Amino acid sequence: MASIARLPKPLMGSYEWQYDGACHEVDPETFFSPESERGPRRRGREAAAKAYCARCPVIEQCLQHALAVREPYGVWGGLNTGERENLLQRTSPVSAAS
Ligand code: SF4
Repeated sequence: MASIARLPKPLMGSYEWQYDGACHEVDPETFFSPESERGPRRRGREAAAKAYCARCPVIEQCLQHALAVREPYGVWGGLNTGERENLLQRTSPVSAAS
């Protein structure tokens, strides 16, 4: 579950970038999987989501937000949950020291 403590303060400016996202008017189900979704169906849905991200003007803000709050679900900034976890592990000070 996402940590509320890491969310930016509820100022409009903190989230305005989302209005510029390529996914702004796309069905959220493209970015978030049903719990039972697995295999090719999941990969296909994620590929469709990532295609939006690939042409998104706010991909960096989106990814930084998802990493900062440890978004546990969905495709954000062009990365799925596992890819974001891997990135966080590779860039965390603990993993860099070990
Ligand atoms: S990077 Fe992807 S998930 Fe983030 S705002 Fe853009 S299209 Fe949406």
